[in-house]
Amino acid sequence: MFRTHTCGELRLDNVGEEVILTGWVQRLRDKGGMLWVDLRDRYGITQLTMEEGFTPAAIMEQARNLGREYVVKVIGRVVERYSKNDKIPTGDIELHVSKIVVLNPSKLPPFLIEDETDGGDDLRMKYRYLDLRRAPVRRNLELRHRMMRATRDYLNGIDFIEVETPVLIKSTPEGARDFVVPSRMNPGEFYALPQSPQTFKQLLMVSGFDKYFQIVKCFRDEDLRADRQPEFTQIDCEMSFVTQEDILHTFEGFITYLFEKVKGVHIGKLPRMTYADAMKFYGSDKPDTRFEMRFVELNPLVKNKGFKVFDDAELVVGICAQGAAGYTRKQVDELTDFVKRPQIGATGLVYARVNEDGSVKSSVDKFYSPEDLEAWAAAFNAKPGDLILILAGDADRTRKALNELRLEMGTRLGLRDKNVFAPLWVVDFPLLEWDEDSKRYHAMHHPFTSPKLEDIELIDDRPGDIRANAYDMVINGVEVGGGSIRIHNRRLQEQMFRLLGFSKAEAEAQFGFLMSAFEYGAPPHGGIAFGFDRLCSLFGGSDSIRDYIAFPKNNSGRDVMIDAPAPIADAQLDELHINMKQLPHK
Ligand code: ASP
Repeated sequence: MFRTHTCGELRLDNVGEEVILTGWVQRLRDKGGMLWVDLRDRYGITQLTMEEGFTPAAIMEQARNLGREYVVKVIGRVVERYSKNDKIPTGDIELHVSKIVVLNPSKLPPFLIEDETDGGDDLRMKYRYLDLRRAPVRRNLELRHRMMRATRDYLNGIDFIEVETPVLIKSTPEGARDFVVPSRMNPGEFYALPQSPQTFKQLLMVSGFDKYFQIVKCFRDEDLRADRQPEFTQIDCEMSFVTQEDILHTFEGFITYLFEKVKGVHIGKLPRMTYADAMKFYGSDKPDTRFEMRFVELNPLVKNKGFKVFDDAELVVGICAQGAAGYTRKQVDELTDFVKRPQIGATGLVYARVNEDGSVKSSVDKFYSPEDLEAWAAAFNAKPGDLILILAGDADRTRKALNELRLEMGTRLGLRDKNVFAPLWVVDFPLLEWDEDSKRYHAMHHPFTSPKLEDIELIDDRPGDIRANAYDMVINGVEVGGGSIRIHNRRLQEQMFRLLGFSKAEAEAQFGFLMSAFEYGAPPHGGIAFGFDRLCSLFGGSDSIRDYIAFPKNNSGRDVMIDAPAPIADAQLDELHINMKQLPHK
């Protein structure tokens, strides 16, 4: 037997027992006559003790030669500690060692394998297998495991069936770039890795599976950020014979279950917000509703008073930061710099402070009377001590910029507590989105999303106003999931492809299989997919999904541990009929 117990298991009850432990040497303290070793495994840390005159000298000597991260097996007797450590569950006991077997020595690790490490990001990623030994990283993966398990329990409990779909498929237009894989057996042809199993899950509905789910890897070749990885995991779901209401109900149940089961948090009923309201009041289709600070539009109150910036603007809109009237000149300047950053793109920031006596002082007093400014304050329902922040310009950009400013103020005012969860549904998304570059419409969700039938008549004249039966679940400003009711008849799907600029032949070549399937008794259906990594990071209180992925890629899409991507041998290239010489930059 390698071990009788784990390093997290022994308690006072075990005192007197002879046990065998295995694990890694976390730390060694040598006080001459006394020697302590912290032995670590996945389950915890147990202190080993050796004492001159009590422990055989040969074992003391052997222990002195142990290095950090040596893998050892020790035999010893459990004793009660004199000075207990209430920081660890095994802190009441220690092991008096009678035998040490070195199972494998270790080179000195390149960084400290402790909760607080001295290793930078790059180094830890290169030696990720060592980083994963650290308790905080391990706990993240344990959380991921619990979430995965709770997901399967819930969906299994309501008759969903998990079906795997292929990874080598054909390119599908879901908005991002595909990763492609050359086919050796079909020279000049490529598979694509799925951006999601969208068409397959719809086909499973045509096959009568009724309720499908899959915890599945998806691949998108996009520029990376903290909450994006080129390969990521979705909880992908689809149901037949459902309305939007059925799906919202089912997955509200799911998220409620997940919160209760994994975090012990009760989140209550999810509020709903239309896309139009989300944009109007928060400037974002994923509003962080942990705090209010809703947008107030000021056009009627501010125009025609001689202030050109406001007069020329399509939209003048602001927020009220409660209790921030005391912001110093420097702090307001910081906010102005913040909104003027190129990523945010505002040209300036107007502010108004509500003084203790209710009077209002603004940066544009020249143009507005005290009564004008009091009317502004009333529009915001601002109280003495509040700070009003206003942006102006073209409507869409100004809303986006104010969204950033709102989030910034929320952070500064401590309103974005990671332990508070504010989930909601955003519904009634537009079906289409105009793309200035290509001068045509794109599907806002994806081309399989059903328009709201009552809006169908707009298809020829005002397609941009058609709303979709599409919905997102948003928590704390993060889109954690999204889906839609799908088109399930060939004619409407053809019409949709036409609207998106596909020729009949292109639509047929890419999606003929799906449209044909719709002709063989496709049931009405719809679904949703959750970004599993994002859900994990949200539950774990981190902004980075990388912390919840065992072997993530860096910002350039590289795995620095295995050093991928990497060139392949000429023979492999030949087999795949790829001639690198044709690449212009090689
Ligand atoms: N396939 C979609 C996505 O990945 C989700 C869905 O519509 O179910 O965003």
